[in-house]
Amino acid sequence: MSDADVRTLTIMIPCYNEQESLPVLFDRMDRLIANAPERLRYTLLFVDDGSKDDTRPLIREYASRHPDDVDYLFLSRNFGKEKAMYAGIMHTHTDGLVIIDADLQDPPELIPEMAELWFQGYEDVYARRRSREGESWLKKATSRWYYSLLQKISGVEIQRDTGDFRLLDRKCIEALQRLDESERNSKALFSWIGFKKIEFLYDRDKRVAGTTKWSYPKLFHLAMDGITSFTIAPLKIATWAGSLISVAAFLYALFLIFRTLISGIDVPGYASTMVVMLFLGGVQLLCLGIIGEYLGRVFMQTKHRPNYLIEESHLGNPDGESLGN
Ligand code: UDP
Ligand code: MG
Repeated sequence: MSDADVRTLTIMIPCYNEQESLPVLFDRMDRLIANAPERLRYTLLFVDDGSKDDTRPLIREYASRHPDDVDYLFLSRNFGKEKAMYAGIMHTHTDGLVIIDADLQDPPELIPEMAELWFQGYEDVYARRRSREGESWLKKATSRWYYSLLQKISGVEIQRDTGDFRLLDRKCIEALQRLDESERNSKALFSWIGFKKIEFLYDRDKRVAGTTKWSYPKLFHLAMDGITSFTIAPLKIATWAGSLISVAAFLYALFLIFRTLISGIDVPGYASTMVVMLFLGGVQLLCLGIIGEYLGRVFMQTKHRPNYLIEESHLGNPDGESLGN
């Protein structure tokens, strides 16, 4: 097989306090590399997102055992998985990129099958969960509601039951490198860039070790990023609701004025006054909150801060090119 037929593929692994999962991951990656199809050449890229446990020494040691196949980036603190993935995307020079979790919920053994679809011409092979084992009922339900809502209000087709586990072609990588928004929601961005997509069904496993790094507040923020980065529909809803309520209030005011003119002042009406006041107060606070969510993101973006900072890195020779190329 000539060199031209061989494609290079980076496997990016964002890690945050994954010392328990890494030894198992290393074993499975070793096996993956040893059994690599002839036309695939893997590079592992670990992005450590400010781990406080032994994740970094473990990665350093593993990289020293595989000087040609294993790269790493250590961020200067915990920036969150979104930024860690962005750092990885910015440092990908290969023909393709696979993003995979360190906890082995996404089986690395599926990568050759995904690559098969890539060789057939697909540019974004996204893995869709057939089942979500080991996740609570609440997490599954909230995620289902959220994505159907996002799909409805954004008008962009969102891939259901998919995470970040996917294989991206060079075209997608370059597109993602151009999207430098500061409040990132990768899933929204993967949908937004388009290109030839195909789903790939798989069973998502339980974490091999350790605990989930997500909390509900973090998930809520990510969900808001998904909505605000996609659409200004909530602002429009706020405007519409505000207009409707104002018209209704104006009509009700007219009615009250006429009634007072005709039948004189009547004292009862405390309950209805309170109800209207509280309702309007609530609607106003909600609208202010929506505006605040957008304004906050505009604020973050206008500061033009870098999305991440790198403390230490070990990057092999991109694409195996000779130096000075
Ligand atoms: N992760 C990260 N930074 C964070 C949180 C998580 O890089 O701030 C990594 C984590 O190490 C794992 C992946 O993102 O490789 C997914 O995290 P996790 O398994 O905790 O999420 P879940 O599978 O529960 O959605
Ligand atoms: Mg996980």
